[in-house]
Amino acid sequence: PRVIFILGGPGSGKGTQSEKLVKRFGATHLSAGDLLRAEQATDSSDSQLIKSYIAEGKIVPVEITCRLLNRAMQEVAAKSPDRSQVFLIDGFPRNIENLRGWEEVVGEKAVISLVLFFDCPEEVMQQRLLERGKTSGRADDNIVSIKKRFVTFKEETIPVVQQLEVGRF
Ligand code: UDP
Ligand code: MG
Repeated sequence: PRVIFILGGPGSGKGTQSEKLVKRFGATHLSAGDLLRAEQATDSSDSQLIKSYIAEGKIVPVEITCRLLNRAMQEVAAKSPDRSQVFLIDGFPRNIENLRGWEEVVGEKAVISLVLFFDCPEEVMQQRLLERGKTSGRADDNIVSIKKRFVTFKEETIPVVQQLEVGRF
């Protein structure tokens, strides 16, 4: 399988554009954030931890995220054993640790063929997130969490984007 990572700030349109890409070109869209929210909604032992990390705009420990991504990819592979399967993974890897975790858990089992990065001004992202917050029901689409997500994005995600850009992965 091949993997395309979709990265960008919170509200930059990762999910929206991923859906459009999938409709147009076919592929399987996996949103790391959606997988974490689904896991949080169950009464799994990680629920509480995921909930607090998301509300604080912090990056959930990589073992959890990678386990969910790996499981989702295995489920798709089991249903349609297609060796040329393409996965669009949105919102991951969010920091260097995420990338290391991916290498450990998935590693040679998939090829990272492309990374897309959506560069969007913070004012635009903030406006979109506040608008989305009116109906999304998401615990982190409020101004306090949004500001924290922007800090995490700048401090942790930008460095991994820079690393991916020069192909050191
Ligand atoms: N998150 C995480 N690891 C991931 C993806 C998401 O910890 O690989 C958490 C993180 O707290 C993030 C939240 O889930 O702020 C929402 O992520 P999502 O990508 O859904 O939000 P977006 O950036 O698209 O608004
Ligand atoms: Mg999203």
